[in-house]
Amino acid sequence: MGKITDAEEQLKKAVSVRMENGPAYDAAVSVENLGQVHEVKGDLEEARRVRLSHPADIMVCGNYDCPGETFDRSQLLACSGCQSAFYCGRACQVKDWRARHKTFCKKRT
Ligand SMILES: [Zn+2]
Ligand SMILES: [Zn+2]
Repeated sequence: MGKITDAEEQLKKAVSVRMENGPAYDAAVSVENLGQVHEVKGDLEEARRVRLSHPADIMVCGNYDCPGETFDRSQLLACSGCQSAFYCGRACQVKDWRARHKTFCKKRT
């Protein structure tokens, strides 16, 4: 568990630095990475909160090999199971589901 906590601390720092000085894309990627850390820890609520925490609603797609782009929250689809992962389209959602998210997704209650 030590490893994950270190990663989380580093990402939190990266998020706050990049939010202020940024490129917006880098800040949004750090937010997404932090969201993924919370998924790994099984805290989908927190993953959602973190991903939606950008003050300007700038986000990246949850599929890590989605072409580097930022999106507005309203352009992204939420995972219908957990409502905690966000994608620019169906293709990215399916890809990330297979590669990663299916291990962590929990139905939102
Ligand atoms: Zn995408
Ligand atoms: Zn999900």
